[in-house]
Amino acid sequence: MDKSNNAMTSGYNAKVEAFRDEEYPMLKGSVYLDHAGTTPYPKSLMDSFVRDMTSNLYGNPHSGSSSSQLSTSRIEDIRLRVLQFFNADPADFDVVFVANATAGIKLVVDALRAAPDGFNYAYHQASHTSLVGVREEARNSLCLDDRQVEEWATGQTPFEGHEDRPTLFAYPAQSNMDGSRLPLRWSDTIRCNTDVSRNRTYTLLDAAAYVCSSPLDLSSVERAPDFIVLSFYKIFGFPDLGALLVRRQAEEVFNTMKYFGGGTVDMVVVCVKEQWHAPKSQFLHERLEHGTLPIHNIIALDAAMDVQKQLFGTMKEVSQHTAFLQQRLDRGLRSIRHGNGEPVCTIYSPEPNPQAGSGPVVSFNIRNNQNAWVSLAEVEKLATLKGFHIRTGGVCNPGGIASALGLEPWEMRQNFSSGFRCGTDNDIMAGKPTGVIRASLGSMSTISDVDAFVDFITEFYQDLTLPPPLTSHTTQKSSRADLCVHSISIYPIKSCGHFQVPPGVDWEVRPEGLAWDREWCLVHQGTGQALSQKRYPKMALVRPTLDFDRGELRVRYAGELPPHQPREISIPLSKNPSLFRQPTTLGSRSSRVCGEEILAQTYVSNEVNDFFSGALGVPCMLARFPPGGQGKSMRHSKAHLQKHQLPSATPSHQTPRLPGSFPGDRPPSPPDSDTERSGQERRILLSNESPILAITLPSLDALNEEIRRTGNHKGEISPDVFRANVVIAPASQGSQGSIEPYAEDSWLHLKIGDGGHRFEMLGSCRRCHMVCINQDTAEKSQEPFVTLSKTRRFDGKVFFGVHMAVTGQSQLPTLRVGDVVVPSWTLV
Ligand SMILES: *Cc1c(COP(=O)(O)O)cnc(C)c1O
Repeated sequence: MDKSNNAMTSGYNAKVEAFRDEEYPMLKGSVYLDHAGTTPYPKSLMDSFVRDMTSNLYGNPHSGSSSSQLSTSRIEDIRLRVLQFFNADPADFDVVFVANATAGIKLVVDALRAAPDGFNYAYHQASHTSLVGVREEARNSLCLDDRQVEEWATGQTPFEGHEDRPTLFAYPAQSNMDGSRLPLRWSDTIRCNTDVSRNRTYTLLDAAAYVCSSPLDLSSVERAPDFIVLSFYKIFGFPDLGALLVRRQAEEVFNTMKYFGGGTVDMVVVCVKEQWHAPKSQFLHERLEHGTLPIHNIIALDAAMDVQKQLFGTMKEVSQHTAFLQQRLDRGLRSIRHGNGEPVCTIYSPEPNPQAGSGPVVSFNIRNNQNAWVSLAEVEKLATLKGFHIRTGGVCNPGGIASALGLEPWEMRQNFSSGFRCGTDNDIMAGKPTGVIRASLGSMSTISDVDAFVDFITEFYQDLTLPPPLTSHTTQKSSRADLCVHSISIYPIKSCGHFQVPPGVDWEVRPEGLAWDREWCLVHQGTGQALSQKRYPKMALVRPTLDFDRGELRVRYAGELPPHQPREISIPLSKNPSLFRQPTTLGSRSSRVCGEEILAQTYVSNEVNDFFSGALGVPCMLARFPPGGQGKSMRHSKAHLQKHQLPSATPSHQTPRLPGSFPGDRPPSPPDSDTERSGQERRILLSNESPILAITLPSLDALNEEIRRTGNHKGEISPDVFRANVVIAPASQGSQGSIEPYAEDSWLHLKIGDGGHRFEMLGSCRRCHMVCINQDTAEKSQEPFVTLSKTRRFDGKVFFGVHMAVTGQSQLPTLRVGDVVVPSWTLV
């Protein structure tokens, strides 16, 4: 270890390790690395708050009762304590309690909007979305980069010709995207460089990210920003409260505000002839805190500040502690390299540097050993399974993301119109990532948190092999595999248990999929969102049976039930309209399946809806989505061939080039290949992506073999977890000419059964951690997703199984257990 590193070590507060488990019992088995989102609260804080609440009664301030007086005096003291926390003199600053930093910003905007001629607004590129939105209220607005702000600071106003109205300049003290810190002196230089004879320029500092891990010193009122916003839950974990600190010299801004609410006026005359009110005048906060204060939240702040001090010391000490960890995390991630010497992580955060300063945040993306970006959604799934709390995606910082990732506005618009939204799986578009992985540290982080995360990235994303040739698609066209349909499953209710097609029964196959498959779903009564096993694992215990003799869908719940709840219910298979809620003239309520808006028919029967709501413990309704619908009552397949399935055009000895994996290498092309276009026209019901999903037992055997080698999982992974419709297996044990594991990746077509019904393969099936839910018990584990991530990741995504659809030449095709399956293979 070199000297500089030793110097940093001295800032580490090893005491945190001693009390970590006791103070944060809710974090058992997980690693919290999202302090930029919020900070977990220590148990001592909650205990102390509960003690205060159970021994004192706090009333609504401003009356004579003892409970009211107690609140008033506590709140006055806490207001002062908040100012002291930031070294601010109460003669120079006032504290306005608000819900969060965003509410503080909005209060300033409310005031400026009421100025007679509105206001000009400039914000820094690294601003949080909450600052960006202010531009919609301004007469003029500009987004500035560092250079433009520096020019302004030397006297070049960016609002030449519009100085007849006040100007607001806003920026974050620390970017919530990558932790980079912006100069605090800007507030002062920009304010001072405006011509005093003209309208004033006010500065708004968004300190929400900065104050989590650094002291903010407002002792020099001349240099301080006019407005400072922050959220206490980000510093202490609790309470859910924020503050707007106002420099008294800037209070005049609020004089034009018109609205008054309870608590903010001294006298109001309300009558037909005359309307008059006297605003409170002594303190600004009295005028701005409308309605009843969040009394108990403010009082909790006292305990929060006490406990913070006891556990972690001063904010300076917190800042040294987090700076040490930041350096360790940054170095750790930078040092992970693939076998070919290339770094695994592309880091956007500035390198930790005690002078320039950057917050304890490391934002990055991951590339595989062929230089292709790894999907953020995939990293998030695996991290979640492994107990890491991290943030991925656009992290509410559009400007910061665009500049870090080199996304041009037109690319962001194109991504948006081609279906990209915050929080979708589709996060690598046209060869560029659309967001980042953000790991952020806080007062309660430890060396072992950092090391565990670096180990995790190393274990799952470092590839020590040299790039494998991409030509596993050798000519196997002559092989006559001896395969058959091993089992057939229907999932009548999306995300619920399966119904196995009994041997000897011919099951009808339609263009949308197997008959009755995913024709029903459960939708949340409030949001209309289709419920998924990912969030409600107990759905695996909802077991439907199709009884054609009685014309019923019978559903049994195999889990624990509340008292008086029936275990079974029958629903007519009939589509009689009286069973369903009538669409109202105001438009029937739409539902959402996998983010897609659909119109499903919801059942009227309370008995039916209560059955599902009671069993799952969530207010939901049964809905039906029968074939043949139009408009929002139909859906289309999204499956398509994946890159790893395409025959490689390059000879195996050359480095394979994955299309689109080299950012800036080629212009993005619209996703309109033939496969996708035809996919758009192929109808499906409520399955996620395609009409039929198939898996093969040789692939499952290979996966189980891998899992056994790790020794981390008890028992075999059952084929059920993949929720396939068709399981394909060698026709007889050890039969000659059987297939290699994952041969299905390169199948083009299947002929199934005596009738030779043809099925077209539509591409590999992308997986998420839902495959970790045991379909018998609804219990979650880490496998098989962890092993799949290691062995079946292509282009940053994880695959198992294949999508397919009937190609439609034969009339009424059917499938039956035992049918012979004959694949035809990719030809190179
Ligand atoms: C979190 C954050 C915000 C928003 O805070 P809220 O509490 O959600 O209002 C604004 N800016 C930055 C830099 C942040 O980190």
